[in-house]
Amino acid sequence: NNQKPSLLVTGGAGFIGSNFITYFMKKYPTSQVITIDKLTYAGSKRNLSEVENLDNYQFIHGDILDENLMKDIFSDFNISGVIHFAAESHVDRSIEDAKAFVESNVLGTFTLLQAAKSVWEKDGLLAERRFHQISTDEVYGSLGKKGKFSEETPYNPRNPYSASKASANMLVKSFGYTHGMNVVISSSSNNYGPRQHSEKLIPTIISNALKAESIPIYGDGKNIRDWLYVEDHCSALDKIYHQGKALETYTIGGGNEKTNSELAREICEILDHLVPEIGNKAQIKSFNDLITFTEDRLGHDRRYAVDDTKLRQTLGWKPSMTLESGLKKTVEWYVKQWEQITH
Ligand code: NAD
Repeated sequence: NNQKPSLLVTGGAGFIGSNFITYFMKKYPTSQVITIDKLTYAGSKRNLSEVENLDNYQFIHGDILDENLMKDIFSDFNISGVIHFAAESHVDRSIEDAKAFVESNVLGTFTLLQAAKSVWEKDGLLAERRFHQISTDEVYGSLGKKGKFSEETPYNPRNPYSASKASANMLVKSFGYTHGMNVVISSSSNNYGPRQHSEKLIPTIISNALKAESIPIYGDGKNIRDWLYVEDHCSALDKIYHQGKALETYTIGGGNEKTNSELAREICEILDHLVPEIGNKAQIKSFNDLITFTEDRLGHDRRYAVDDTKLRQTLGWKPSMTLESGLKKTVEWYVKQWEQITH
């Protein structure tokens, strides 16, 4: 295959995938990037507006479960490596109906691995070309008050979403051990930032506040998550994709543990400064007044926290954002989007 080598990014129209492609193509302006995305409810080509007109970028509308399409992509293009984001990603939906999670996350990952293996093996490139699996700290289960997840923590997924992601990771590892594929896995904590789907916690808090509607927080609001700014995730992925060791896992954290209530309050305080007129019109002193506690999510993991010493020490990564600066940037982005729609 004498075409230029291309990076294949799956799920590029989603939240993290689109941020990653935008980041990567800015950093490596001569790189060739192909993305395949099914454009489910969670994906939108609008997320890729910053790269869509570049000559070295290509969008393929398709499903990673489509065996023939996957084989064609690996045969027709010179795929130099894969970064696999495509997945069903919302825990609540997996509680309602997990079928799409098993299909896209487990079978989809398997289909992609098979296609990569068959073409790379034929070309004698199996040990060379990288397959980078994007995963989540949720595969490790739930923590008590102390301790953190690390690469050594045994998998203990507790909802259908995390079970499907853990299954996919195990298949990825098995292709590494059994077939000698150059696989690497990264498991990150909760991401936040521009372009996240409105169903997720932070966009929900912001959009409900902007509509002066109640802000729903599950249970007692004391569940703890470690928040990672999406662009810091992208810089970690860049390092892991290029320099991570085959067959290894790298956990990525933000070092920002917050209860869901604390997080909601911090966002409300940013909004109090940014759009006081909305609060005034709704006759509330602070957007905090809109926070309401709702019935808890089934199987709601209590605490996630990530020890990313390995990534920091071996690959020299560190995040550039504090939660304060990242949240401010994020809220400003959503407010700007909202103003464009409403004005
Ligand atoms: P997202 O739901 O915003 O995007 C997923 C994208 O994958 C969408 O564009 C969707 O159309 C596409 N997709 C889904 N099924 C597909 C299929 N069968 N074929 C092709 N495309 C398909 O998700 P996200 O938040 O950007 O997450 C991306 C990845 O990162 C996922 O693998 C997720 O498990 C992982 N992750 C997410 C977080 C987080 O906080 N959001 C944290 C850690 C890991």
